[in-house]
Amino acid sequence: MTATRHPQFPNLIVFDHPLLAHKITLLRRTDTPKKVFKELIDEISTLMAYEVTADLPSEACEVETPLERTAGTHVHGARITLIPILRAGLGMVEGVMRLLPTMRVGHIGLERAHDTLEPSDYYFKIPPDPEKGHFIVTDPMLATGGSASAAITFLKRSGAKSIRLMCIVAAPEGVAKLASDHPDVPVYSAVLDRELDENGYILPGLGDAGDRLFGTL
Ligand code: URA
Repeated sequence: MTATRHPQFPNLIVFDHPLLAHKITLLRRTDTPKKVFKELIDEISTLMAYEVTADLPSEACEVETPLERTAGTHVHGARITLIPILRAGLGMVEGVMRLLPTMRVGHIGLERAHDTLEPSDYYFKIPPDPEKGHFIVTDPMLATGGSASAAITFLKRSGAKSIRLMCIVAAPEGVAKLASDHPDVPVYSAVLDRELDENGYILPGLGDAGDRLFGTL
């Protein structure tokens, strides 16, 4: 697996691996059925989680093998919280937790006021002591970046300091918004696509990830 900083966007870490590229190709296909789409989001999330968690803290510990005591490593899963942005972000939860089952899971649901278009959180639930934890915000599509940026703003307001964003398909517009609003937050994306269309869909993209995950097309 290779995950590298994008030359144009220093806040973006993109992936270059044939298995991921293959799975994303299947994800894009318009005839991929809902069941397979969900499985692909799940598998891609597991593959990415290995890199997204690479610099999280670990502690030295000791372990008793059947033969002797030796040095080991312990990752405090309970200090790491996954924050799916409702609803498409939910599709990535199981895939990440497969690698770190003791993680906690918070939830953020966002909506926009009809008149001002200002985002607000209609649902916000995270573990106590956010200033001590590490947060991975998930949303498969980083389009305009409006929701991701707002979710991170609300998380920071609650005291969170260590935050990273994990998506699967990103648009340059969304990455640029995150760089401007939250330059301290690294963005991990399996791929960087070309642009947004006039309706805010990512091109070439894969359509509406939430609708494809939950069958609300
Ligand atoms: N959200 C999606 O699900 N798809 C897009 O292309 C853009 C935003």
